[in-house]
Amino acid sequence: MTDTALPRVRAEIDLAALRANVRTLRAHAPTAAFMAVVKADGYGHGMIPCARAALEAGATWVGTATPEEALALRAAGVGGRVMCWLWTPGGPWREAVEADVDVSVSGMWALREVTAAARAAGRTARVQLKADTGLGRNGCMPEDWPELIAAALRAEADGLVKVTGLWSHFACADEPGHPSIKSQLDVFREMLAYAEGEGVRAEVRHIANSPATLTVPEAHFDLVRPGIAMYGVSPSPEIGTPQDFGLRPVMTVAAALASVKHAPADHGVSYGHHYTTPVATTLGLVPAGYGDGIPRHASGSGPVLVSGKWRTAAGRIAMDQFVVDLGGDEPEVGAEAVLFGAGDRGEPTAEDWARAAGTIAYEIVTRIGSRVPRVYVDERHSGSDD
Ligand SMILES: *Cc1c(COP(=O)(O)O)cnc(C)c1O
Repeated sequence: MTDTALPRVRAEIDLAALRANVRTLRAHAPTAAFMAVVKADGYGHGMIPCARAALEAGATWVGTATPEEALALRAAGVGGRVMCWLWTPGGPWREAVEADVDVSVSGMWALREVTAAARAAGRTARVQLKADTGLGRNGCMPEDWPELIAAALRAEADGLVKVTGLWSHFACADEPGHPSIKSQLDVFREMLAYAEGEGVRAEVRHIANSPATLTVPEAHFDLVRPGIAMYGVSPSPEIGTPQDFGLRPVMTVAAALASVKHAPADHGVSYGHHYTTPVATTLGLVPAGYGDGIPRHASGSGPVLVSGKWRTAAGRIAMDQFVVDLGGDEPEVGAEAVLFGAGDRGEPTAEDWARAAGTIAYEIVTRIGSRVPRVYVDERHSGSDD
């Protein structure tokens, strides 16, 4: 035990692990530039510290979904190239152009808006044209591509934009061997060839997210865009564990038990009494709940390490707290309850919580809420060189 009390709940973010993960991923794609994806507050890990750590480890690009995220990086002084891709009419295009952000354009409306912003700012906008090669989400459909390419080339001739990138995104890269991977690559190559044939000279062509970075080398092109793997979480159990790829989970969520008490047999636990003590036992109170981003769907199944043993959320996970049946153990109040972490100290992982909640590990780490303080640590691990 330390002589200082543990906080109610905390998320420890191991930046040395993040840097080591970036280096490991770069080794998987040695000829490609690295874009560190830090959208949604760095998948819950904290956008600014994670962006800085990734740049220290050799990333040269930082990627976000929204322009507000990209502008927040610049406001914090984050250098390197910054790209964002999720735009709605109205921008903020001009602010992004003035902050040296590469902006994604998926359609004519966006090209018109960014061109107008470049004219107003008196600067050339850096534009990356996004192709829908089969994801069916954002991106320009192949039949609309010639019109977008022609308009982008006209704007380039006018000095208003520079086409810095041609890019796309996978639908099923986390399902190894899925036929859409090859067909999306075929469509991507055709759309690249068309653009290049028309005279587009892009600096970077890219399509690879984490699973493609790890398992589809022919998808690496000039740049890879990993998000989840950089945080040491596997894109899917089908692909493998983080350890299989030499990755280390970056986030540990732990709480201090707020109560430890004896309860008789047949005692109902938490809202709805969905758990009843089978025998006389001890109950531990974990002071974190769905208000902190702990998924209520893991009621009755979410795992927690207490005093060296896995315990399970007994009954409902409430907004601020849930209970574990300690089976007669009597840890002190204030003892540490680890919800998930790297897994090498016997604790559950984000993947274990994903299974318990019927979701993916991306959601487990990303939804950890703003009420949980992030504590940045820089641990040394055998096998990492910092
Ligand atoms: C989120 C995102 C990524 C990163 O995906 P991961 O599966 O987390 O590696 C890459 N590109 C785009 C367009 C994204 O939205």
